[in-house]
Amino acid sequence: MTTVSDFPAAAGPEADGVDAAVAAARSAQPGWDALGFAGRRKVLLAWCTLILRRSDELISLIRAETGKTADDARLEVVLVAHHLRWTATHAARVLGRRRVSPGLLMFNHSVEVTHRPLGVVGVIGPWNYPAFIPVGPVSAALAAGNTVVLKPSEQTPKTGEWLAATLAEVTGAPRVLHVVQGDGAAGAALCRAAVDKVSFTGSSATGRRVMAACAENLTPVVIEGGGKDAMVVAADADLDAAADAAVWAAMTNAGQTCVGLERVYVVGAVADRFLDLVAERAAGLRVGDGADADLGRIVLPKQLDVIAAHVRDALARGARAVVGGPHSITPPYAAPVVLADVPEDSAAVTEETFGPVLVVNRVTTVDEAVARANAGGYGLGAAVFSRDRDGGRSIAARLRAGMVSVNAVIAFAGMPAVPFGGVGDSGFGRVHGPEGLREFTRTQAITSQRFRPLMHPTSFRRGPGTMPTLVRMVRTLYGR
Ligand code: NDP
Repeated sequence: MTTVSDFPAAAGPEADGVDAAVAAARSAQPGWDALGFAGRRKVLLAWCTLILRRSDELISLIRAETGKTADDARLEVVLVAHHLRWTATHAARVLGRRRVSPGLLMFNHSVEVTHRPLGVVGVIGPWNYPAFIPVGPVSAALAAGNTVVLKPSEQTPKTGEWLAATLAEVTGAPRVLHVVQGDGAAGAALCRAAVDKVSFTGSSATGRRVMAACAENLTPVVIEGGGKDAMVVAADADLDAAADAAVWAAMTNAGQTCVGLERVYVVGAVADRFLDLVAERAAGLRVGDGADADLGRIVLPKQLDVIAAHVRDALARGARAVVGGPHSITPPYAAPVVLADVPEDSAAVTEETFGPVLVVNRVTTVDEAVARANAGGYGLGAAVFSRDRDGGRSIAARLRAGMVSVNAVIAFAGMPAVPFGGVGDSGFGRVHGPEGLREFTRTQAITSQRFRPLMHPTSFRRGPGTMPTLVRMVRTLYGR
């Protein structure tokens, strides 16, 4: 296992570049903060407009760096704009000064709570959604009044640079979003630099290293790690809709989605019909780099080995290949694979595959489906299909996942007001929504005495009867 010491401490070219970027971001921060919510909203909305005006450029860049299909890249740009706009327009309401009741005992005070920016936020992003994923924490941190240093994946450096350059066109100098390029060592240097918080999105293994590096300076972190999302299909589900959703969620972006679907637990009575529908849809998908492709390439060559190993291991343990098999992996592509009756202790069930492989296992009851869905270490997203919406919601509430969609898949990612993040090995902290904005602030409470009280318990000049009177008062109020 790699440890923190596998990466050099803050030294060398990466650290120098990172320190310079953090220093530049630091000096730009007070001016950016001074713009206030209204000023920053204007800038961020102008950035959103510019991104949309030049969306063809961004789509081409994302495609060139990740090999994803045109539709997958278009969807990513739509999500960028949708989330950026929400964050820009809601920051003032979520983070603005608010009055809080002082309570009965301290009624002579007024209280206000504010959310102040932290300073400089480091954002480390993955390659699978190189624009959408970083824009979540970047826009929230900026809207809150922080400046940002972004370390994109070394697979997608140009997309990161494009985001910073377009924002700089709107803000002019000084830049409020800086980009540092490089591999994991640059990310490690950012964790050890003088930043006030790090927002990391990537694999859970790297997340552990990020947290260890941040611990050296007690720098707080958000960890958006990997997932092994499951869907529960109840006996009363609309099977056609469930199969359609399952195939899309498993195969979109060629399965390289943190909240991609990797497991389905379907109740026995409808399992055969569901599996037929899934197989029919998955088998019809096209793979390649042509305009009509449904799945693009697998970005990391080493991931192809992981995908192949999971498929082979499942088959060796008795699983059935309903669509595809080991032959579906033809570098740089992986075609859809649907596996049924996969032993629950095989890697295809317990580990993140991050490819277009869907495990469909039958269960006797919904309770068993919930237990199996919850069995692993990850807890990112999940889905439930049931015609009984209340029933579906109560199944959802029992799933150990940060976000659950009922009668849909990955719906939460298209809702900017919805907090996004996981539990367990999937990490902690939230991006998106009010929680995502508050992540990049420190809360400050200011109490202010409006008039002197008749009793003064917090003074040595209080009279002998003050404390007994106070105790009697509290007993009368709360002691019955
Ligand atoms: P990695 O963990 O490999 O990398 C993520 C980022 O961390 C990259 O920028 C990487 O740089 C950087 N990095 C690598 N080593 C270090 C280090 N020691 N210190 C600091 N930073 C480091 O993930 P991938 O890019 O391969 O992304 C895929 C993973 O991300 C999957 O597990 C997926 O589930 C997860 N993910 C989670 C999401 C969520 O919201 N929970 C969303 C999207 C993806 P470089 O690439 O240059 O090596």
